[in-house]
Amino acid sequence: MHDFGLEEAATPGGFVWQAEHRLIHALDRLPCGVLLADAADRLLHVNSACRKFLPALRDSLTPGTAVSELFRRAVLLGDVRTDAATVDRWLEDRAALDAPSLTLRLRDDRWLKLESCGTFDSGAVLTLIDVTEFKRREVWLTELHDRLAGEGEDLKVFARHLATAKAEATEALRKAELANQALAREIAERKLLEERLWLLANTDPLTGALNRRRFIELLEGEARQPDGEPATLAVLMLDLDYFKMINDRFGHATGDAALRHFTEVAAAHLRAPDHFARLGGEEFAALLPATSIETAVDVAEAIRAAVAAASFEDTGVPVPLSVSIGVTELPPSDGRPLAVLNRADKALYMAKQGGRNRVARVSVGRPPELVEAQAEA
Ligand code: GH3
Ligand code: MG
Ligand code: MG
Repeated sequence: MHDFGLEEAATPGGFVWQAEHRLIHALDRLPCGVLLADAADRLLHVNSACRKFLPALRDSLTPGTAVSELFRRAVLLGDVRTDAATVDRWLEDRAALDAPSLTLRLRDDRWLKLESCGTFDSGAVLTLIDVTEFKRREVWLTELHDRLAGEGEDLKVFARHLATAKAEATEALRKAELANQALAREIAERKLLEERLWLLANTDPLTGALNRRRFIELLEGEARQPDGEPATLAVLMLDLDYFKMINDRFGHATGDAALRHFTEVAAAHLRAPDHFARLGGEEFAALLPATSIETAVDVAEAIRAAVAAASFEDTGVPVPLSVSIGVTELPPSDGRPLAVLNRADKALYMAKQGGRNRVARVSVGRPPELVEAQAEA
């Protein structure tokens, strides 16, 4: 029989006794712990959940024990792991209205929310609710929050590194582009220089035609096919007629202009694989690879006629310009490319002897002969 302060009315089998019995039974079935205290803070009743929460207090949970003392003992015996000072503070404050609850940590790491509220007869009802699940979630959320905050910091640092790296990469790219531009400029300049050097070494600065050295080099090269076999080619030797007289009459500058004019006219009659050179003075040569002497004679005749027909003037005065041409060939059987120049020279001499403004041809082993001029258009 428990003491609810209703002894007078609680005769066994009476309605009070039955009500008290039902209440005790109901309290024992609650999942939360319940302690009832009287106005002097003595324990009136404790339910089974409470006994389970505080197993070390088993022997102390007897009516009449001071409730505050019970909780201090629970700390002492290890049922409650919350520190004694915190528990003491709560026990002192709990009589106040709206006293806050206290979250107790138990021996087995469960968490209980302890609350106290006054009763009509100045006693108190203390409840212990298992809040382990909430507490665990709270701990998990706190840890998660801390971790996210930490990672947030990490992310900020990472973002700063990224921004620095990006700025460095942009700068490196800019420098590389500048270096590239400088390199491209240098390459272009070198190419230009190489071209200038090549032109200096291989061409005649006045007319732009190839020079003698390059012509001989090409002649020796073209005389052999890629497989090393001798090739067929034709050579034209061209010499302007009475050029000394032109210089004497019109002056050296006009003579120079005449040399350039002649180069243009002659080059216009040559094909891409042909080569045209100024061998010296007013003497020129053309190299026609893979060409028969007949075709070469036609080309020579066309050049001769074009030069004679072209109107070249010096300040309105026509400059009489004509050319004599000797044509020869280097047949595959003849392996001496330089001999071709001597032969062409012989033919040229014949063209001069034949009256100038003429074409003469010479084949290997045959005397030079004048070519009949085509009827000029
Ligand atoms: P031919 O018909 O026999 O060839 O008579 P030619 O007067 O043309 O021949 P010659 O060899 O007697 O004279 C060649 C002239 O070419 C002499 C020289 O002043 C002139 N000459 C040579 N090189 C140049 C040059 O670079 N510029 C100018 N303007 N004249 C040059
Ligand atoms: Mg001449
Ligand atoms: Mg000459």
